[in-house]
Amino acid sequence: MNIFILNSGSSTIKAALISPEDGIRHVDMRIDNIGNDRCCLILDTIRHPLSCKDHGEALSALMAATEKALVGYQVDAVGHRVVHGGPSFTEPTLITDHVVQAISDLAPMAPLHIPPSLAALDMARKQWPDIPHIAVFDTAFHATLPNRSRHYALPKDIVDKLNIRRYGFHGTSHRFVAQTAASYLRTDIRNLRLITCHLGSGCSVTAIEYGRSIETSMGMTPLEGLVMSSRPGDLDAGIILQLIKDLDGDIEALEDLLNKKSGFVGLTGTGDMRKIEERAAEGDRDCQLAINIFCHSVRKYIGAYAAVMGGIDAIVFTAGIGENSALIRHRIGQRFDYLGAILDEDKNREAIVNKAQPVCDISADISRARLLVIATDEELAIAQQTAQLIEEQAKSPTNLHIPVAVSARHIHLTQGTIEKLFGPGYQLTIRRPLSQPGQYSVEETVTLVGPKRKIEKVRILGPARLQDQVEISRSDEFFLGVDAPVRASGDLDNTPGITLAGPAGEVTLTNGLICALRHIHMSPDDAAAFKVQDNDVVDVAIGGNGRKLTFDDVLIRVHPDFRLEMHVDTDEANAAGLSSGDMGVLVSTETHAQMTRRKITATNSPAQDL
Ligand code: ADP
Repeated sequence: MNIFILNSGSSTIKAALISPEDGIRHVDMRIDNIGNDRCCLILDTIRHPLSCKDHGEALSALMAATEKALVGYQVDAVGHRVVHGGPSFTEPTLITDHVVQAISDLAPMAPLHIPPSLAALDMARKQWPDIPHIAVFDTAFHATLPNRSRHYALPKDIVDKLNIRRYGFHGTSHRFVAQTAASYLRTDIRNLRLITCHLGSGCSVTAIEYGRSIETSMGMTPLEGLVMSSRPGDLDAGIILQLIKDLDGDIEALEDLLNKKSGFVGLTGTGDMRKIEERAAEGDRDCQLAINIFCHSVRKYIGAYAAVMGGIDAIVFTAGIGENSALIRHRIGQRFDYLGAILDEDKNREAIVNKAQPVCDISADISRARLLVIATDEELAIAQQTAQLIEEQAKSPTNLHIPVAVSARHIHLTQGTIEKLFGPGYQLTIRRPLSQPGQYSVEETVTLVGPKRKIEKVRILGPARLQDQVEISRSDEFFLGVDAPVRASGDLDNTPGITLAGPAGEVTLTNGLICALRHIHMSPDDAAAFKVQDNDVVDVAIGGNGRKLTFDDVLIRVHPDFRLEMHVDTDEANAAGLSSGDMGVLVSTETHAQMTRRKITATNSPAQDL
């Protein structure tokens, strides 16, 4: 299989044709310095000067060069590096118009990176309309970050509105070098605590505990963390406020300052570490200070991440600076004896890594933890992930993604019950609309009164219905001391009741208590695309990063007013490590024509001994 890789950054575009099985690169090219007079196309290590005033011209030049270079090769798929996957994209994803729209919605979170990726994506889809295009997201590897490292201490409503959280970047590289380290150490990655330092133009450090990213220095955007080529890394937020005032509120100028004029560029006038090292050796104080600040910031993160994991088994250096600068590794790797990591200065000086010899151990023989230099290969990693997805999809009849929403316990009420609970003629107050058209949550809540315990503040959903229906999770059942059958919404025959308490009185329902059958709402068009019908029952794979689950018995519900969305309850979401907005994939090992159309027959829950 030959995978064409497009890796489009803010000032470079890299492209390669790779066989993922053996890692052979048939074609390797990049355009550097887009938009300035040093712009050039590097094809198989030979530099060709280019004049490209912007990304669009650079892309056209790349595609023209590609056409010549690819003569004689079949391209089976295209793998695209996409810097930001937001909350939804935590796995490699087949690119459809829907996915392109979702990626473009993320542009405000990576304004320098998403637009060039979209332009590359658009051009490549036109060039190869009949082969799969797969997006591989830099943020995906960090989807495992626990809440404690993911959250910023800002007001919850703002965090929710703007999807503010730590996403982390360089994930493809961190994952690749961590796996390479594990192979080199002949140890399952699930037994290792690693700190990977990706030190290139952009720099980030990640703590990988037993195979999962649990902390990383970049945040919601690639601005946070280490000092970088042209970005400052960590800043006191008060400085930003001061800068906004100083720039008279010119946000574009601020964006430019923080992304292009800070870091090494701001400290020394150049973002190129090779020049900084040369000038520092000649006595340039600014360059000496830049090196000191940089190495100090990396050391600080390594110490912090070792503390977070309670120790380390290896520290990995990778990317342009990490792979090539013995000086920087020496400055960073001093006095790590307390971590059990001792640098061997000779090995460090002589270390050379490349794609053929990707690992060099620079630790002393007596060092318990290893210090490793590893050549990263993001293009190969993207090719491998692209090929893996294509193979998985060959086994699956559909590869369309389904957004997942997590339903907390809730109640639908008739107008009669509303009046008994809240008073005669009472009208519910709309709080906010739900994703399904015409549905909304209301301000009012009620208390569920079970034989064992009560649950207060249970949300009511509107509008009023013809039947009362109370939807709770399995955990709620145990807590309340009730036995709710798993049922589709509205299928309430022979279901138990429960007592509801409101401000104006209590109502004991004779039936309507259920544990909702997981289901997918979809329009007739969606049903046609998924090749399913109303009341079909399907399997959906959701989640990832160690918590992937395939849910069976998922009911398809088709209606012209429905918006595509799968609903699971909080227990199901917790089991798969899900949040609202994650994507599921409909899976089946059978072809559409043979797909079993199971109908829901027995939906009663197993008897619970409470
Ligand atoms: P990106 O892919 O993000 O553009 P790279 O991983 O290629 O970045 O890293 C670029 C950085 O690596 C630059 O700062 C460059 O100066 C630095 N670099 C490359 N080779 C060396 C070297 N031999 N010594 C010191 N720094 C180096």
